[in-house]
Amino acid sequence: MASIDLDALRREAESFAAEIEPEFGRFKAIETVEAEIEAFRFAHERVRAGGWFDFVAPEALGGRAVGDLASPDTVSVRALAVIRQAFAFHHAMLDLAFVEQGLGSFPIALSKAAGHGDPELLGVLSQTAEGALIPALGLTEKGAGSDLSGVATTASLQADGDYLLNGGKTYITNVGVADYYTVLARTSGEPGERGGLTMFYVPDSAEGVATRSFRVMAPHPIGEVLFDGVKLPARYVLGEVGGGMDLALGNLARFRVTVAAAANGFARRALAESVTHLQAREQFGRPLSSFQGLRFDLAEMDVRLRAAELLTAEAAACVDSGADATAEVARAKLYSTESASWICDRAVQHHGGAGVRVGSVVERLYRDTRALRIYEGTSEVQKLVLGKHVLKTTPPPGSPH
Ligand SMILES: Cc1cc2nc3c(=O)[nH]c(=O)nc-3n(C[C@H](O)[C@H](O)[C@H](O)COP(=O)(O)OP(=O)(O)OC[C@H]3O[C@@H](n4cnc5c(N)ncnc54)[C@H](O)[C@@H]3O)c2cc1C
Repeated sequence: MASIDLDALRREAESFAAEIEPEFGRFKAIETVEAEIEAFRFAHERVRAGGWFDFVAPEALGGRAVGDLASPDTVSVRALAVIRQAFAFHHAMLDLAFVEQGLGSFPIALSKAAGHGDPELLGVLSQTAEGALIPALGLTEKGAGSDLSGVATTASLQADGDYLLNGGKTYITNVGVADYYTVLARTSGEPGERGGLTMFYVPDSAEGVATRSFRVMAPHPIGEVLFDGVKLPARYVLGEVGGGMDLALGNLARFRVTVAAAANGFARRALAESVTHLQAREQFGRPLSSFQGLRFDLAEMDVRLRAAELLTAEAAACVDSGADATAEVARAKLYSTESASWICDRAVQHHGGAGVRVGSVVERLYRDTRALRIYEGTSEVQKLVLGKHVLKTTPPPGSPH
C-alpha cells in the first residue's frame, strides 16, 4: 500500500499557507469577538477550498487515503502534524481552523470504530470532512479542567428513551462558529467519579443550547456553551454509555501530539524572524548577528527546536503505529510547547522595542504560543504522566536497561 510522502505533504502545506498568509494582513487588529469570528471563517474557507479537511476524517469515513501511515478507520497523526507545523508557521488561525475540524469530530469516528455507526452521525462526520459543518469538543467545565472526573453536566435517561442534557462547558474552542458539539456528560454517579461519563453529539440548533463568547490573549473563537433541558435521542450517544472518559482520552491521545507540532511551527517562525532581524539590524556599528551572546541564543533556539521536532516525529509515528504512545506524546507536548514559549520570548527580546509593538510577527507568536502549554493537558499534567512512566520503567543501576 503506497503511503503519502510526508516531505511532499510538508512542501504542499507550506506553499499553500505561504500564499494565504499575506491575506491575513487585513485582520491585523483582531480586537473583538466579531473580528475573531471573521478571521476564523476566512481561514476555514481557505482551508476547506484547499481540500485540507480531508485529513481530519478516517479514510473509511470519507477522509483522505493515507496509505500505510494509519489504518483506514483512523487519521494519520504524522500527516496532521506535518500540516499543523506548516500552517502554524504562517498563521495561527489557519492552524486552528484546520485542527479543530478534527478534534471536535473525531469522537464520532471513535464511536464508529467501537461499533456505533448511526447513519445521521456518519453523515455529520463526512460533512465535517467537507468543511460544510464546524464541530467543537466540549469536555472542560468550571469544576472540571485537568481532572475531567469533575464533570457535573448531566444527561438523564428519560422514560421515552431520550436523554435530557443540563449543565455547561467552558473554554470551548469554536464557540460562536460551531454547528455541533461532542460533549462529555454524566449519565450516572457523582462528580469526582471517573465512571458514569458518556459522550454525546449535540447540534448547536437543538432547543436549550446557548453560547457565550469570551476572548483569550490571542485570537481564538472560544466561550461557554450552556445546556438547559436539551432533549437528545439515544442515537446521539457516542460509543458506549459509561465509556465517555475512554472516548475523550482516546480523542486527546490522537490529537495531543499535533499541539506539539503547532508549537514547533510557531517556534520555527520565531527563529526565522530572529535570524532575519539580527542580520539586518546594526548597533555599535555592527550587525547584531555578529555578537557572540546573540549567536549563542540562536544556537540554543536551534537545538531546542530540533529536539522538539524529533520528539514530535517520534511521538506521531508511535501513535500511528497503534503502540502505546502515552510517554512519547507527553514528552513531545511538554517539551515542544515549553520550548516554543521560550523561543518566541527570545525572538521578542532580539527585536528590542519592535518585538513588543502590537501587530509585529514576534509579538503575535509570543501570544499565540502561550495557550498551548495549557490546553489538551497542561505541562504539569504531562509531567505527572511522564513521572509515573519514569518510575515504572527505569531499571535500578546495575540491572539491564
Ligand atoms: C485557548 C484554550 C482553548 C481550549 N479549548 C478547549 C476545547 O476546545 N474543549 C475543551 O473541552 N477544553 C478546552 N480548553 C480547556 C483546557 O483543556 C483546560 O483549560 C485545561 O485542561 C486546564 O484546565 P483548567 O483551566 O481548569 O486548569 P486547572 O485544572 O484548574 O489547573 C490550574 C493549574 O493547576 C495545575 N494543576 C492541576 N492539577 C494539578 C496536579 N495534580 N498537579 C500539579 N499541577 C496541577 C495545572 O497544570 C494548571 O497550571 C481550552 C483552554 C484554552 C486556554
